[in-house]
Amino acid sequence: MSDTKAIFTGDRCLSCTSCMANCPVMAAIKDYRGPKLVGPAHGRMHFSQEDVEESLNYCSNCKSCDRACPSGVAVSTLNMLQRAEYYKNHPHLRSEDMLAHGERMANLIRKIPFGATFSNLGMSIGKALGVFSALGIAGERNMPAYAATPFKDAFSSIKQTSSAKKVVLFTGCFINDNEPQVGNAFVKVMNANGYEVLIDRRFKCCGSPLVVTGFLDEAHQHADNNVARILDWKRQGIPVVTPCTSCSLMLKEEYHELFGDDKFHEAATNVYDAFEFLEMLQEHGEFNDNFKTLNQRLLYHVPCHLKSQAIGLPAQDILEEAGAKVNLADAGCCGISGNYGFRKDKYEISMKIGAKLFERVKQHDFDKVICDCGTCRMQIHHGTDIKPVHPIEILAQAY
Ligand code: SF4
Ligand code: SF4
Repeated sequence: MSDTKAIFTGDRCLSCTSCMANCPVMAAIKDYRGPKLVGPAHGRMHFSQEDVEESLNYCSNCKSCDRACPSGVAVSTLNMLQRAEYYKNHPHLRSEDMLAHGERMANLIRKIPFGATFSNLGMSIGKALGVFSALGIAGERNMPAYAATPFKDAFSSIKQTSSAKKVVLFTGCFINDNEPQVGNAFVKVMNANGYEVLIDRRFKCCGSPLVVTGFLDEAHQHADNNVARILDWKRQGIPVVTPCTSCSLMLKEEYHELFGDDKFHEAATNVYDAFEFLEMLQEHGEFNDNFKTLNQRLLYHVPCHLKSQAIGLPAQDILEEAGAKVNLADAGCCGISGNYGFRKDKYEISMKIGAKLFERVKQHDFDKVICDCGTCRMQIHHGTDIKPVHPIEILAQAY
C-alpha cells in the first residue's frame, strides 16, 4: 500500500493556512470554511467518528490547495474521500447523478438513431423551458453538444501509415463525445512524428466526474479497469497518451492518492499528457520540427489540473518553437472545475472565480485562446463569447 494515499498525508499538516490563501472558492464565498479545516483537520476527526462538515460541499476539487501546501498534504483528495463518506448516508441529487454519469448518458444516446441530433435539440429546448434548472443544473449554461459521430467510431476511417512506434490515445469522454476534432489533431501530430495512434475501446471514463460527486466505489471500478488496460499496454511497450489534463491527472496521480494500491503507481509511469510526450520526444532528438511557421498570437489559460502535474508548460514551449507567440493569461482558476460550475447552486461561485480570466480574455490582444481542458474551454466561451481551442489543434496546423 502506497504512503502517497491521501489519508496518510493529513498528519503532515502544519496549520500554515497557505492552502486557505490559495483556495479560489474560499475567496468567492464566505460560507466555505476552507481546505485546512475541511481537509486535514476535520478529516482526522471524520475518519474516527460520525461527523459531517456541511461546507465540504463547496470544494470544487480544483487542487489549488495541494499545490500551495508546503507539506505535501493531498488536501483536495482528502476532501473528495470525505465527500464519498458523506454520500454513504445521504442520497445523491438527480443533478449530481446526471453530471457524474456523462459517459453512461452518451452511450445511451448513441444507441438511438440520430440520438446525438435529437439530444442536442432536446438540450436546447430543455434549456429554453427551464427543465435543466428544475433538475438542479445551472439554466444559464449550454450543456456540451454531442458530436454527430464519436471520435472512436470515426477513428477507423482516419488514414494512418503503420509504424513500429505506437501510442494509445486515451480520449476521455469530452474528446470522444463532444470534441472529436481534438482527437483528429492529436492523430495528425503523432503521425507527423512517426507514431501510429491506437485506441482501446475497453477504457472507461477516467472517473473524475464520479469522484467529485461522491460516487467513489464506481470511480474505483473505473480505476481498476483502466489501470489493467494501461498495464497491459505497458507490457507491450506502448505508452498511453491523453490530450485531456483532467484525465491525465486522474490516471497519473489521483488514482493512487484515492485508492493507494501500488499498481496505480506502476500504471502512472506509462501515462503522459500529450505535450509532455511531445516534449519528451524533443529531449530525445526525435521530435519533428519541420514546421510551417505558426504566425499567431495565442493567449494560454493553463488549466489547474495541468499545473498540478508539475510538468511545466510543454504546450507553450512547443508552440513557441513552431513560431507562435504564447502569452499566459495568468488569471487563476477559470471556476468551472469539471461539473462543479454546471450545478445550479455553484454557478454564481463558478462565474465569480472566473471573472478575472474573463476580463483578461476580453482584452482581445491575441488571435486565439488556447487551453488543454475541455470544461475550461467551455467556461471561457460561456464567460466571454470567445471560443478557445486545444493547443494540439494549433500544433496540427503547423504540419
Ligand atoms: S480543491 Fe480547490 S476548492 Fe477545494 S479546498 Fe482545494 S483550493 Fe479550495
Ligand atoms: S497548506 Fe498544507 S500544511 Fe498548510 S494548513 Fe494547508 S494542509 Fe496544512
